[in-house]
Amino acid sequence: MSEHYDIVQVASLGPAFDERLARRYRVLPVWRDPEGLEGYGPDLTRHVRLAVTSVRRGFTRQMFERLPGLQAICSWGVGYDTLDLEAARESGVQASNTPGVLDACVADLAWALLLATARRVAAGDRYVKSAQWRALGEFPLSIKVSGKRLGILGLGRIGHAIARRAMGFDMEVRYHSRHPRADAGYTYEPQLQALAQWADFLIVACVGGPTTYRIVDANVIRALGPRGILVNISRGSVVDQAALVAALRAGELGGAGLDVLESEPSTAEEFSAMDQVVLMPHVGSATDETREAMSQLVMDNVDAWLAGKGLLTPIPIAGQG
Ligand code: NAP
Repeated sequence: MSEHYDIVQVASLGPAFDERLARRYRVLPVWRDPEGLEGYGPDLTRHVRLAVTSVRRGFTRQMFERLPGLQAICSWGVGYDTLDLEAARESGVQASNTPGVLDACVADLAWALLLATARRVAAGDRYVKSAQWRALGEFPLSIKVSGKRLGILGLGRIGHAIARRAMGFDMEVRYHSRHPRADAGYTYEPQLQALAQWADFLIVACVGGPTTYRIVDANVIRALGPRGILVNISRGSVVDQAALVAALRAGELGGAGLDVLESEPSTAEEFSAMDQVVLMPHVGSATDETREAMSQLVMDNVDAWLAGKGLLTPIPIAGQG
């Protein structure tokens, strides 16, 4: 008689989560196997109703094809550009992510990057620690943040949290997305390039994936201008990185603060000599508190689904009610 598993886990969410999940349910932890799901035959996978994954690991069409009984996917992370939602729609599988619980930390990091870039925090740190302060004297002047104009690309949950923080810096906020939001409380700008032209700083907080691929292009970057700053906490794919590097080299853009890059992990050599660029290794949600809350929300979604109550934070999939 074959073993009976309810859940297939294609990504580890950390030892504490993995152990809790394995204690509660019959879990097939395929992430432990270098071959992943490929290494398991139908005798082991045919009863699987639910899959646990992460935004990094994603969920591919091939995975759907190997799990004919699959009904739901619970993913860790808010982006779903790595989940094949078209395959989910075709096979009638629902999916959940972990929205909301990470908004504050990602917004905090967007502000950390904006402040660090404008006020040259990382460069100043190096200046003191490498004894240049004593050797060369006063540090060069930087760019004022308070009272400036902030453009936000994507006024979703994270974009809103970024905008709320701008109020403490006495800033005027405008935003661009595909649709204006009646409840936004900020001016909508239907053209991204016009938003960049108006703004001193542009923070990218929209979704990744094909619909936003490189929409921050050379024209948008140049529109920000030589004292403008671009911050990206969304996905590297949203920004044309070659155009960004060219604009920074030519002095057409003042600086950039990037939590995400086109290819990750990256050594980002093209930015290594640029003091006007501050980089972080994709850590928007990476605090103990928020990572714990994200794992808990995955577990809550798993529990709710297996108890027949449906997913708590479903991803809207076209064609699913
Ligand atoms: P959300 O609430 O769904 O908001 C997404 C926003 O993107 C909406 O305002 C949406 O507005 C806009 N948008 C979608 N397609 C667009 C397009 N083609 N052009 C312009 N705007 C578009 O999502 P969220 O929770 O705020 O998260 C936003 C993104 O942040 C995630 O998708 C993820 O990629 C990223 N993220 C990064 C980190 C990190 O560690 N750095 C952590 C979490 C999330 P419309 O639908 O009106 O266009």
